[in-house]
Amino acid sequence: MLTVSAALDALKQQVRLNPRIQTLSLDEALGYTLASAVISSLAVPDFDNSAMDGYVLAVDDINKLDSYTLVQRIAAGETGRALMAGEAARIFTGAPIPPGGNTVVMQEDCTVVEGCLQIQGRLTLGQHIRRRGEDVQAGREILPAGCRLGAAELGLLAAIGVAHVAVRAPLRVALLSTGKELVEPGQPLGAGQIYNSNRYAIGALLREAGCSVSDFGIVADMLADTRAALQAAAQDHDVVVSSGGVSVGEEDHVKAAVSELGELALWKIAMKPGKPFAFGRIGEADFIGLPGNPVSSFVTFQLLVRPFLAARQGGQYQALWLELPAGFSLAKAGQRDEYLRVRIENNALQPYTNQSSAVLTSAVWADGLALLPAGQTVKPGDVLRYWPLRGWRSV
Ligand code: AMP
Ligand code: MG
Repeated sequence: MLTVSAALDALKQQVRLNPRIQTLSLDEALGYTLASAVISSLAVPDFDNSAMDGYVLAVDDINKLDSYTLVQRIAAGETGRALMAGEAARIFTGAPIPPGGNTVVMQEDCTVVEGCLQIQGRLTLGQHIRRRGEDVQAGREILPAGCRLGAAELGLLAAIGVAHVAVRAPLRVALLSTGKELVEPGQPLGAGQIYNSNRYAIGALLREAGCSVSDFGIVADMLADTRAALQAAAQDHDVVVSSGGVSVGEEDHVKAAVSELGELALWKIAMKPGKPFAFGRIGEADFIGLPGNPVSSFVTFQLLVRPFLAARQGGQYQALWLELPAGFSLAKAGQRDEYLRVRIENNALQPYTNQSSAVLTSAVWADGLALLPAGQTVKPGDVLRYWPLRGWRSV
């Protein structure tokens, strides 16, 4: 059996950079991955400016003057005239510091008496001025290639005046669900049948990862059907993802079909939920075979597939593991690393009551995953590694 980190290393060896690049406006670029680094030609801010609504002073000797002659008013978007020593200007947040101005005082800390500004309290030379380039220096790389564009990144690109960016085109992913027991939601269920939940859960995970997804439907558990579906899915797609059919049961035909069409390695990964995982190639497409159990495919996707997809886009996807105390005990040690679906309650980790790989409710309930290493028992207060899959809760 492979450890998760050995499986990640092995997947890394298989990464081929997506060569398709497109140029998008900032309005369109949310969630895309930068194809090349962005260097700023602008300093941000581009001029020294006031951090406060107040007054800008031309201080000569910080210990002496506490009264200044008020000579002008500078709002954001305007420029002022030079100040002489002993002069002050009314100034507002974001307005440029005029030549000669060197210190800003908050309006709360002064009074104006007959055109004369009187200052209460002590001043520090240079206070309340936002310096040119303190956010971004001209000529510096602000975002590396492979960076995924979120709200902060898009804001920063706009701040340096960039209107368009070169990004990797979304990976085109074909999604197949194997299992003759599967029925699409909206259809009636027959005896022994279940609804196809993986299509929607894995499809959503893929979209969250920035992929464009084509659904290739449900494939019955027959070798010829599986082969035909996989072959069609590999056309014009970068990655084919299937769920189910990768165990060793005689109803599991994915392995044989992919081996006939291309190449395939079947991995046993020392993780729970999870374990069976297939990786291969069909023509130009990567093939990823996820386990059928809904929680197994969900967790396997998070741990292995997300980093692989990010790497194909020239980036990375690094889980941010924290350390938190367990709020529970577990007397029986497991044989595989277990990724428990947990919530944080009173700053301690609490597992969902049913950790079965078929119980999707656990993934809905959980805020994240806690790693329970193989061979380890748990008592309350033991520190476990925790990966917040989401930083919020809606119910
Ligand atoms: P398999 O890996 O094909 O043996 O499937 C393992 C378990 O996952 C079985 O109980 C399947 O019915 C279930 N399963 C497989 N595919 C799906 C799916 N697309 N949606 C929901 N459950 C599934
Ligand atoms: Mg099956």
